[in-house]
Amino acid sequence: MDIIVLKPDTPEQNIALILAKLESKGLKANVSHGTERTIIGVIGDTSKVTEEEEAAISAMTGVENVVRILKPYKLASRDFRKENSIIDVAGIPIGGKKIQVMAGPCAVENSKNLFDVAQQVKSAGAMFLRGGAYKPRTSPYSFQGLGEEGLRILADARAATGLPVVTEIMDPRDIEAIVKYADVIQIGARNMQNFRLLLEVGSTNKPVLLKRGLSATIKEWLMSAEYIMSRGNQQVMLCERGIRTFETATRNTLDLSAVPVLKQLTHLPIVVDPSHGVGKWDLVAPMAKAAVAAGADALMIEVHVNPAEALSDGEQSLRPDMFAQLMKELKPVAQAVGREI
Ligand code: PEP
Ligand code: MN
Repeated sequence: MDIIVLKPDTPEQNIALILAKLESKGLKANVSHGTERTIIGVIGDTSKVTEEEEAAISAMTGVENVVRILKPYKLASRDFRKENSIIDVAGIPIGGKKIQVMAGPCAVENSKNLFDVAQQVKSAGAMFLRGGAYKPRTSPYSFQGLGEEGLRILADARAATGLPVVTEIMDPRDIEAIVKYADVIQIGARNMQNFRLLLEVGSTNKPVLLKRGLSATIKEWLMSAEYIMSRGNQQVMLCERGIRTFETATRNTLDLSAVPVLKQLTHLPIVVDPSHGVGKWDLVAPMAKAAVAAGADALMIEVHVNPAEALSDGEQSLRPDMFAQLMKELKPVAQAVGREI
C-alpha cells in the first residue's frame, strides 16, 4: 500500500484519522490535494504493512481505494499524481503551457558582467537568471566561484531586473546562505547522488532543480528526486544535461529521449540544458529547438557577455545577441507543439 485515494470532499477530521493510523504503523504521509481527488502518499517501508492492516485502512471512512506502486519511486511517480505538477517560483509557473527559459553565465564573475547579461537575457525573454557562486570544477586550480559574494551579486541582479535566481549548492554547510539568496536551488550533475545534500534541500521549501548525474539512469535520477520529496519538499524539477557516452564530438550526449520517457514516468516538470549537453556554442541552438519539440517545460542556457573571456564554460556560452536570436527562433517551434515561449 503506497497511495491512498480519498473520496471527493472527505472531511479533514477523517483525513486526520487516516494519518494517525499510518503514524501508528511507523509510516509518514504526504497529502496532495489535486483538482479532482485528494491523495495520500505513504512514506516509509510500506512492505511491512500486512494484508489485514491494508484491508482495515481501505475500510476507513473517506477511503476510495488503496494502491500499491511497484516502482521504487512513489511521490515522483505518475501513478501518484496524474496531472503535471506546476511549480510556482515567485509567481512564475514551471510546467504549464509556457516554456520558461533560465539564462545566464556558468559562474558569477563580477557584478558588472552579471548585471549586463541579466539585463540582456531579460529583454530577450528569459524569465530566470542562472549563475553559479559555488562551482564544481574538475581541477582544484580552476576558478571555484565567488562563494557568498557571488550569491549577493545574484540577489542584487534579481533586485535590478526582477528575474528570480537559480544557483547551485555543493555543500550542506552552505544551505542557509543559498536559501537566503536563491529562488531555485540547483543540484549539479556531480551531486545527483549526494544523498545527504538531497535530504538537506528536501527539508527546505525552495524549489529544486535536480540535474541528471553524468552516468545516471533515469530510474536512479527519479530515486534522487524521491529523496528530496520524501523530506516534504515536492517542488522538484528534473534537468537533462547530457550523459557520458563513447562519443567525443560533443562534451556529453544530450539524451532528449529522456524527456518523453520522463513525461510517462513522472508528473515533475522537465528542464533541458543543451549548453552542458553539447559543450559547444554552435550546437546549443539546434538542441534547444529539439528540446522544445521533445516536450521540455523549461530550458537552461549559458550566456556570457564575452565568452572568450569567461572563467568557465566559455566555449559553450552564447553571446547575448545570439541568445536573443535563439529566443525568436524558438517561438514557432513551441507553437508547433502547442506551447508558448
Ligand atoms: C552548471 O550548471 O554550470 C553545471 C556545473 O552543470 P552540471 O552540474 O550539469 O555540470
Ligand atoms: Mn557551466
